[in-house]
Amino acid sequence: MNYSNKKEEMKLGDNTKIKAVFFDMDGVIFDSMPRHAKAWSEAMALEGLPFSEYQVYLQEGRTGSGTVTDVFLAHGRGVPTEEDIKRIYANKSRLFDAFGDPIPMRGMAEVLEKVKSLGLEIYIVTGSGQASLLDTLNHYFPNTFYKEKMVTAYDVKKGKPDPEPYLMALEKAGLQANEAIVVENAPLGVRSAKGAGIFTIAVNTGILKDDDLWQAGADVVLPDMAALLALLNNKK
Ligand code: CA
Repeated sequence: MNYSNKKEEMKLGDNTKIKAVFFDMDGVIFDSMPRHAKAWSEAMALEGLPFSEYQVYLQEGRTGSGTVTDVFLAHGRGVPTEEDIKRIYANKSRLFDAFGDPIPMRGMAEVLEKVKSLGLEIYIVTGSGQASLLDTLNHYFPNTFYKEKMVTAYDVKKGKPDPEPYLMALEKAGLQANEAIVVENAPLGVRSAKGAGIFTIAVNTGILKDDDLWQAGADVVLPDMAALLALLNNKK
């Protein structure tokens, strides 16, 4: 298999301490990133600001206000006002919601079943703050996710790439960093997880180059959930 770093694959296979898998949500559980990318790009275009879908993928994980601020500063608009942030984020949300129901990531149900069969706990660590998040997860993946095993936008002060969300997941789980693994799709998410000291599998489900994820510090970079399932099947 040419997608994975052999040394790190062995390390994962040899690690008998793992008790939980921390999953990111957008671009991992749900195939939502193409929609976020289009919605952000169009919302910025309404402001006359260029923000390519590739740039959205690179910025994924930042808060809405952080994203607006970065784009404003990059184009010499100075720091955005609260009003700017509210307007642009409202437009982005409207454009995103117009896409309709979420789409589960291809192969995700099989991965979650495999993780359960290995006796590992499943946590969600997301910057998303939708009130209906747990209902949505339960609808698509019954009996898999629980309120006490989630870290969302409501729980943290600093989002990804700060390590806080993943440190909080370790705290909630009562685990050491070497007792969990993370599944992420975004460079800032990988940086957050690695900052918390956790072995991090990046699944490149979007339009980024694998190198964007390696550069962020990923321990393994995989092309899709089928490859992740294969890796989990190799875990004794
Ligand atoms: Ca993500």
